[in-house]
Amino acid sequence: MAPCTYCGFCEKFGCGNYSKASAQTTILPVLMQKKSFTLRTESEVTKINVDASGKRATGVTYVDAHGEEFEQPAELVVVCAYITHNVHLLMTSGIGTMYDPATGQGTLGKNYCYQLTPSVNIFFDDKLLNPFVGAGALGMVVDDWNGDNFDHTGLGFIHGGYIAAYMTTGRPIETELLPEGTPKWGAKWKKAFVENYLTSMSVSLMGAVMPNKANYLDLDPTYRDVYGRPLMRMTYDFKQNELKMQDFTVGKMVEIAQAMKPREIKKSLRGPHYDIDPYQSTHNTGGAIMGVNPRESVVNRYLQHWDVPNLFVVGASAFAHNSGYNPTGTVSALALWSAQAIRDQYLKHPGPLVSA
Ligand SMILES: Cc1cc2nc3c(=O)[nH]c(=O)nc-3n(C[C@H](O)[C@H](O)[C@H](O)COP(=O)(O)OP(=O)(O)OC[C@H]3O[C@@H](n4cnc5c(N)ncnc54)[C@H](O)[C@@H]3O)c2cc1C
Ligand code: SF4
Repeated sequence: MAPCTYCGFCEKFGCGNYSKASAQTTILPVLMQKKSFTLRTESEVTKINVDASGKRATGVTYVDAHGEEFEQPAELVVVCAYITHNVHLLMTSGIGTMYDPATGQGTLGKNYCYQLTPSVNIFFDDKLLNPFVGAGALGMVVDDWNGDNFDHTGLGFIHGGYIAAYMTTGRPIETELLPEGTPKWGAKWKKAFVENYLTSMSVSLMGAVMPNKANYLDLDPTYRDVYGRPLMRMTYDFKQNELKMQDFTVGKMVEIAQAMKPREIKKSLRGPHYDIDPYQSTHNTGGAIMGVNPRESVVNRYLQHWDVPNLFVVGASAFAHNSGYNPTGTVSALALWSAQAIRDQYLKHPGPLVSA
């Protein structure tokens, strides 16, 4: 791979410099060499098929770019379509028992968690920063108020988050740190934008969110997708645990900001209610969680479906809660863990790897 040039277009873009590791640059080129491997691009799986007993996956149905539908038979199905799509595919395929928030019964859709990501924006008169020269991995993190790294006595919440300063992008408009009282458009907005673009930064939190029985995923009773399947519905709001955690950690973030002796500090808080605006995080978790028994979870510790042993569901859908870290390292580790179990255990003795 080529050395990173800190181009400033890391987050949300493919790397034109071939410096970023992703499935496209690492795994797929190796798989493409194998005669036994076929990659069907521009195809969308619409259903996981099961036999009459409902205990065995028989393959998947997919639609190609021309809208033609195919049935692909399979001895083993691994669903790895991203957390929300994993859960939606299981739901629309009728695999598993839907979670009912009224009774607490059922497992599919429960423990949906998000993250809480407040920030503190910092404005200087005497420091010049260049937000445009950024890279995904360029940053500083304070992990002292995450997880169990500190004494929570009397604080009224569990868990925490990491506090970070990073510059993954300096794209104008998206990188819009403006002092208190700036109008949202017009000449005064433009003037404030120009004056502050090179002299501002932010410190943000990757705050954990614990599961709550009222936060869950299910199927929408009204809206349908292009294939006629119900859309997935998210029922979600921030709860007291994370709002208290926000108050505490933002206090620490303000202390860090003040130590930099800025002209102005502006808090950007989340809540009290969840809102899809502004962009906060793409770290969704849960809905098909792993656990020790089928009464409380959808998959076992190897991400094997409790009801359908030849079906594995890989991704952050397996997380029982959302911790104060970025998820993809754990998603990757779980994928390796699951793949190893499939290769070393399941393929030798197909069947449940954990007894229910
Ligand atoms: C803008 C952005 C920034 C992020 N930054 C970070 C970060 O800094 N750190 C971090 O840890 N995480 C980050 N994430 C989260 C990270 O991208 C996910 O955790 C990770 O990609 C999840 O991996 P996955 O394999 O489960 O799903 P994905 O990487 O989403 O892969 C799923 C694949 O399945 C395909 N697919 C979906 N449905 C179907 C279907 N029905 N049929 C066929 N194919 C299907 C999709 O096209 C996709 O290729 C970020 C995400 C976004 C969007
Ligand atoms: S900053 Fe990101 S996108 Fe830009 S060269 Fe480096 S790895 Fe590639």
